Order: sequence, then C-alpha cells, then structure tokens
Amino acid sequence: MAILKIARLGHPILREVSLPIDPADLASDAVQGFIDDLIETMRDADGAGLAAPQVHVPQRIALIEVDGNPRYPEFPQIPLTVLVNPEITFLTDDTVKIWEGCLSVPGLRGQVPRRRHIHVKALDRHGGAIDFEAEDGFAGIVQHECDHLDGLLFVDKLLSSRSLSFLPEFQRYRADEPLVSA
Ligand code: ZN
Repeated sequence: MAILKIARLGHPILREVSLPIDPADLASDAVQGFIDDLIETMRDADGAGLAAPQVHVPQRIALIEVDGNPRYPEFPQIPLTVLVNPEITFLTDDTVKIWEGCLSVPGLRGQVPRRRHIHVKALDRHGGAIDFEAEDGFAGIVQHECDHLDGLLFVDKLLSSRSLSFLPEFQRYRADEPLVSA
C-alpha cells in the first residue's frame, strides 16, 4: 500500500480523457494493488472520492466513500464504492446545487449544479456488475468523480465564478448554507 501523489489544477493529466479498463486486467495484482493505493490515498486526504487521473493514471476508475468526512460533515454516509468504467444516465433534468471541493483544487469551494437523480452502471473492482440509482449529494459526488474521467473539473461547471471561495472564508461567511440545496 502506498499514498500516491495527487495532481493539482494545471497538470495536464487532469484534462485527459481516461481510457477504459479491460475487465480481464482486473485480475492482475498490479491493478488490484493500484486500487488499494487509490483507496489509501483518498482516505489519507479526507476525500469523499478520488479518480485515477487525479493520481496521474488516466484510466477509468473512480472511488466514492463518505464516512464522517471532516471536509463534508453534512454529507450522508456512503460506503466505499469502486467504479470501473462507470456510465451515468440522467434520470431527470432537475438539478441540485452543491458546494463542491476537490483534492486537485485544494482549499477551494464552489457551487455546482448537478443532476438530482442518476442511474449508474459500472464494474466493481473484481469485474462484477454494479447498477444503482443515486440522488442529491450522492448523485453529485458520482458526477464529480466521473467528470474527472473525462478531463472535467468542478471549476468548469460552477453556477457562477462568484461562488468560488477559499475554505476558511467559506466556513466563515457561508456556514449557514447547506452543502446541498434545491
Ligand atoms: Zn475532484
């Protein structure tokens, strides 16, 4: 296990479209070891999610986990979910506004509109089928992580650039706003 270096805004790897994983490769120790490293890196950095290109590997693997996260104290618990080759279908045009941050854009928060209800298909880390629906904050995290696989960052999708805030200022001046709102 190892903690991997996280690419930050400006590194071109964050703008690449990541390549699909060949499901046969999920049997390899190298890929399983990499997924373990991704998980360890996400937890070390208090991330609610992490995508492989954020650690300089342009492959379509993304993680999500929320378990009493100090960076997102209001978020519901989400068990560790490893998504390989995820595909999202929007189930509504309705959006929610989410105050997002990103380990690749450290120290900033900004408000992003996300589809409120989505359907997700993917493989798990052993190649099994994953199929679920997600709503609200959970749906937003999935969309944020899957955007990384297409070279997109939350700062590309801000409701307004005027929402951008450093975290201490966010906590000082926006503390009364919910992280997820209609
Ligand atoms: Zn991110």
